[in-house]
Amino acid sequence: MAYRWETPASIWQEDERNGQFELLATEGLGRIDWQSHAGARLPDVARLLGASLPASCGCAPIYPEGFAHCPHCGQPLQRLNGQPSRRPGWWGPGADQSLPRHVPHGLPVTSLALGDSLEERPAAPHVGRADRSMPAPPNAWCVFAAAGYGFPEQRLLALAHTRGVLQYWDPLAQLWHVLAPEDGAASLAFTASAYAWLPAEGSGRGEVALVPTAGGLQRLWINPVSESYRLEPVHDAPVLAAPGIMRRHLACLAGAPGNVHLWSARTDLDEAQQFPCPDLPASGWSRPFGYDGRLFWLHEAGQLAWRPGEAPRFLPWPPEWQPRLAFGGPTQSRDGRLWHIGHDGQGYSFLEIGSDQPERVGIDGARLGFANFLFRRGHPVVDEPWSAEHIEDQSQDDTLVVPLLRSFNNNRSQPSGLVLRLHKYTGRAEDALDDRVIPRVTVEWIGRRNVILDEIARLARPLDCVPLVYDNCLWLQHPDWNQMRGWRLDELA
Ligand SMILES: [Zn+2]
Repeated sequence: MAYRWETPASIWQEDERNGQFELLATEGLGRIDWQSHAGARLPDVARLLGASLPASCGCAPIYPEGFAHCPHCGQPLQRLNGQPSRRPGWWGPGADQSLPRHVPHGLPVTSLALGDSLEERPAAPHVGRADRSMPAPPNAWCVFAAAGYGFPEQRLLALAHTRGVLQYWDPLAQLWHVLAPEDGAASLAFTASAYAWLPAEGSGRGEVALVPTAGGLQRLWINPVSESYRLEPVHDAPVLAAPGIMRRHLACLAGAPGNVHLWSARTDLDEAQQFPCPDLPASGWSRPFGYDGRLFWLHEAGQLAWRPGEAPRFLPWPPEWQPRLAFGGPTQSRDGRLWHIGHDGQGYSFLEIGSDQPERVGIDGARLGFANFLFRRGHPVVDEPWSAEHIEDQSQDDTLVVPLLRSFNNNRSQPSGLVLRLHKYTGRAEDALDDRVIPRVTVEWIGRRNVILDEIARLARPLDCVPLVYDNCLWLQHPDWNQMRGWRLDELA
């Protein structure tokens, strides 16, 4: 004999023989596979559901939501919070939608006030250490999301997008779990271009994001109780360039070589439109960024600009001029125009973005960065993108700064953010970004005071470093590391 308990969100079954509760169904999560998964993960599952846990008796390991007392012995239970988390989520360094309009969107710029915490640490030249570590996901080359997905607590996901493997961190068991595709779910793999997903904010339980895949643009839902995920097609042509958002419209490139189109819709997925642009490259696009009413995707061959409601326009780069996409991204001049660094065979220059008749300004060396978070070798560039660097410390001449994340703060005249400093490196910037091993690298916060957060021995491919914010920490992950490094932040929200 079994009793059925219905709570506002779930249906449970109580086994009369042993008094144990089994979850049969819960809002938004589809099929529940309770027996094979939930046992070891009950503390995590209880927090996701806002269920109750035993406090002073051992009659059952979990109770339905809202239970205040054990129905068997009457002892009080621990009732967990069932309200969806309202903390700001993290979907990658380029996914912050709360930046003001005059800051380009889609670049690694965050509106979270990371500096307030990090700048309380001892200033350089003191060399700090990470406060926390956690195991890297087993498939370590990935993008991260840390959000509530409609649940009461935030959970960390790591998507290894080249392999299509979705990994879930159980913070109570301290274990990564690979989520299995539910029956018939398409692959999550996306390798055509740089990766970006669009957060599903304020959505139903389990919904994570709109994701680009080789099978189409899909809505991704997770079921952390059954350790599975499912996909719901939004546009069923292979995605070729990651989706972006501009003024309540989203767009991506889709199709096949020789048959490319730009697909767009309102953010509620209404009013879908297709613009044929058959001859565009079918791979190799940057993540999109939004600025001045338009979305842009950059490519070695040129730039694609799209304004909602209009046909996209592709502008090839000027003859001989090649962008240096690995150097970072576009940056602004004081008059608000956007520029990208490149090389014309003779020297480096900044080229105006989004103009039919672009201006070009020559410079005498490489500059790394994006969105006015720009460095020439070890020195910041603070005025125009082509201004002379600001030299505070001559000894930084033989270092190379690789910016990872800018922290947007309206109250500051100088940009602040997270960088890697490559020590004793005086070679070409291009070479520092490849497989060569740099013997000594420091992780630094550049701000009101500069703080050396950590030191790394032997680092290659510095651009593979991924910053993320999760569990009141700033974390850094690199695919070569077994452990992620974390620095504590004050409560962010
Ligand atoms: Zn009891």
